[in-house]
Amino acid sequence: SPGLYIVATPIGNLGDVTLRAAEVLKGCDAVACEDTRVTGKLMKHIGSAKPLWRYDDHASERDRARIVEAARTQAIALVSDAGTPLISDPGYRLVRDARDSGVAVTSLPGPCAAIVGLTLSGLPNDRFLFAGFLPSKDKARGDTLASLAQVDATLLFYETGPRLTRSLAAIAEVLPGRMISVARELTKLHEECRTAAAAELLEHYEAHPPKGEIVLMIAPPEEVAVSKDDAESMLREALETMKT
Ligand code: SAM
Repeated sequence: SPGLYIVATPIGNLGDVTLRAAEVLKGCDAVACEDTRVTGKLMKHIGSAKPLWRYDDHASERDRARIVEAARTQAIALVSDAGTPLISDPGYRLVRDARDSGVAVTSLPGPCAAIVGLTLSGLPNDRFLFAGFLPSKDKARGDTLASLAQVDATLLFYETGPRLTRSLAAIAEVLPGRMISVARELTKLHEECRTAAAAELLEHYEAHPPKGEIVLMIAPPEEVAVSKDDAESMLREALETMKT
């Protein structure tokens, strides 16, 4: 039936395309996507040859209006290059406009790198704050981290290989003592997740420059990485207090 279908797609492993996603991508009238080559591969994999319409960060008001108009009478799917559309990806304005125009909107759940990273990290997940990409400039990155220092939740960021070590250095400086988790190449052949203090991870990734896509996570304030020396002195202090 007509409407806008938000469709989550794999974040690396094509086996993660859901049955419903395949059904909608094969049965819809057109697919709005960021990059027709990237989505073309997925469409080929599931055996769909539906028309691909470009809808990316550079889409104009008119592009959007055209999709909303089409969704009144046709089934239009929205996908991004990978994962859940709208999550650090285009689509929010399209959904807003479709809703404002009374067009039916539905969302098919599926892979989202932030959630996959969180589940792998071993960090507390009862409260988390997803904060997208950290700014690329040093000052802005430090300010963003400082503004999140008091947040009582695991912090999640999207990150890229070339920028990881600078982010880790900033975290070590601005949020010292926190446990950090780096989840890389999720669902792919070289999937990896390392959880340790920022300084330790910094040392590792300086020696082994990371390739590929990354979810960077920071434990909440109370989950401090305590060194053995610190632990011993804390224990001594506690024992002193008990004696008095
Ligand atoms: N909408 C996507 C989602 O639901 O995950 C995210 C799109 S965002 C433009 C791309 C970023 O997502 C990457 O820079 C990386 O931080 C993260 N990402 C995507 N795929 C990933 C993967 N397989 N492993 C780790 N991180 C990934």
